[in-house]
Amino acid sequence: MTNSDSAPVPVLVIDDERDIRDGCQRILSRQGCSVDKAPDGAAGLEAMERSPADIVLLDLKMPGMDGLEVLKLLRQSHPQVLVIVITGYATVETAIEAMKLGAYDFLPKPFQPDQLRLTVGRAMERLRLTRETERLERERRQTLADLAGEQSRLRTVISALPLGILVTQTDGQVVLHNPTFCQMAGLEPDSAPGQDISRYLREPKVHELARRASQQEQDQQGDPPAVEFTTDQERTLLAQATPVLGEGGASLGAVLVFIDVTPYRMLDQLRQEFVAKVSHELRSPLSTILLQLTLLLGEEGTAPPQGHRHLLSRARERTQGLISFVRDLLDLSRLEDGGATAAEPVPVSPGKMLAAVKEALSPQAQSRGMTLSLELPEEPLPLLLADPVGVESVFTNLAANAINYSPDGGRVTLKAWAEGGMLKVTVSDEGFGIEPEKVGKIFDRFYRIKNEKTRYVTGTGLGLPIVKSVVDSLGGTVEVDSELGKGSSFTVTLPVE
Ligand code: ADP
Repeated sequence: MTNSDSAPVPVLVIDDERDIRDGCQRILSRQGCSVDKAPDGAAGLEAMERSPADIVLLDLKMPGMDGLEVLKLLRQSHPQVLVIVITGYATVETAIEAMKLGAYDFLPKPFQPDQLRLTVGRAMERLRLTRETERLERERRQTLADLAGEQSRLRTVISALPLGILVTQTDGQVVLHNPTFCQMAGLEPDSAPGQDISRYLREPKVHELARRASQQEQDQQGDPPAVEFTTDQERTLLAQATPVLGEGGASLGAVLVFIDVTPYRMLDQLRQEFVAKVSHELRSPLSTILLQLTLLLGEEGTAPPQGHRHLLSRARERTQGLISFVRDLLDLSRLEDGGATAAEPVPVSPGKMLAAVKEALSPQAQSRGMTLSLELPEEPLPLLLADPVGVESVFTNLAANAINYSPDGGRVTLKAWAEGGMLKVTVSDEGFGIEPEKVGKIFDRFYRIKNEKTRYVTGTGLGLPIVKSVVDSLGGTVEVDSELGKGSSFTVTLPVE
C-alpha cells in the first residue's frame, strides 16, 4: 500500500491476453499508477506476494487457474486489495458470484480506455478515502490515548501536591479534592467528592469565597481573593479561590487552593513576642543612660572638658534615637497583637488632636525656619471613636515626616474636613517628594529611602508602618500623592463615630 497521495498507485493486471495487459499498462501509467503484469492466476498470486498491489485488474476466463479461484485466494491473502474483474464472457451470474467473493467492480470486455480510466479512477478514489478514514481513526485513537495519559498525569500531580485542592461547581457541589485537602480538613483519606462544600469544611468564610469565585465571569487581575481560618484541628489555613471559566467566559465553578500557614503564624507570633520583650527590656536601661548623659552634660561646674562634651552630646543623640526606635517597636508589637493592650476606644476630637500635634512639633519646625499651619473648617469636625494614643501617633508621624523630609524654610500644612460620613486629614509638604516606584514600599517595615537629601535625616523606617497599622485597625485608608522635588501629600480617611 502506498502512503502518500502523490506516490504512484501499484496496480496488477492479470490477463492471458497480452494486448489487454499492455494496453492497461499504457493507459494507467499515465493516470498515476505503476503497473505490474501477470499472464495467469498463479503468476498473479506470485506477483502479489513479491510486491502487493492496491488494485488488481483480474480476467475471469484464463487457462489454468480460474479467475474466481484467484479472486478467492487474493481476498484471503490481501483482504484490503480492490479487485476489478474483467471478462469477455460477462453474465449476470458470474458478476454476482464475483461480487459475492469480494470483487470491488466489474469491467466487461471489450472496454474503451475511458471506461478503464473511469473504473480505476473510482477505485483510486476509494483507496484514498479508505486511507484518509484510517488516518483519522489512528489520530482519534492517539488523541484519546494522549487525553487519558494527560488526565492520569494531572490526577497524579493533584494527588501528590502538598497543597490542598478542592474544585466546586457553581452550586457549591464538590467535584474533586486531593488527599492533602482531606488531611488538612480532617477527613478520611478516601472521602468521596459529590456533596456540598459545607459537608467537607465547616468554615462559612470558605463557602462564601467559593460562591463569590463561582459567580465571577472573568479572570481577575492580581492575586486571587483569599481567606485565612482555623480548622477544628487547630491548623491555620489560607484558602485562595480562582474561578473556572468555560467557553465565552462563563463560570463553571471554582478551584480552591489551601495552604497550611500554621508554622508561619507560630513563627510570627514568636517573633512578635521576642521583639516586644527585647524592646521592653531595652527601654529602661536606655532611659537611664539618657538621663545620666543629660545630667553629665548639664551640671554646671562639673561640665566635662570641651572634647568630651562633644562626644557626650553625640552619645545622648544616639541614645535618644535608640529610645525612639524602641518606642516604635513597642508601638508596632502592640498593634500586631491586635491592639490587645491598646486602650478602650473613646471619642476623640480630631481638631483638638491636630492642634496638639501642631503645638508639639512647632519648635522643631521653627528651629529650621519652617511654617507649620493647620486648616480646620468653621463647623466642628465629627468625633472619632478610637484610642487617642494611636490617632496621635498617626498625625505626629505624618507631620514629623513632612518636616524631616523638607528643606529648611519649607511649608507644612495640616488640613482636616468631613466628607461623605468620613473624616479626612491631609498632611502636605513642599519637600523632597518620593520617586513613583518607591511610593509602594514606604509602608514596609524598616524601609527608608536613601539619597543625597535624606541621608542626614535620622529615622527607623517604622513611622509609616505604624500609621498604616493604626489606620487599618480603625477601618480607614492612607493615600499618598507625591512628586519628586515638588513635595508630598498624605491623606488619611477615617470613619467617624
Ligand atoms: P522614617 O521616617 O523613620 O525613615 P517612615 O516609615 O516614617 O520612616 O518613612 C519611610 C520613608 O518614607 C522615609 O525614610 C522617607 O524616605 C519616606 N517619606 C516618608 N514621608 C515622607 C515625606 N513627607 N516626604 C518625602 N519622603 C517621605
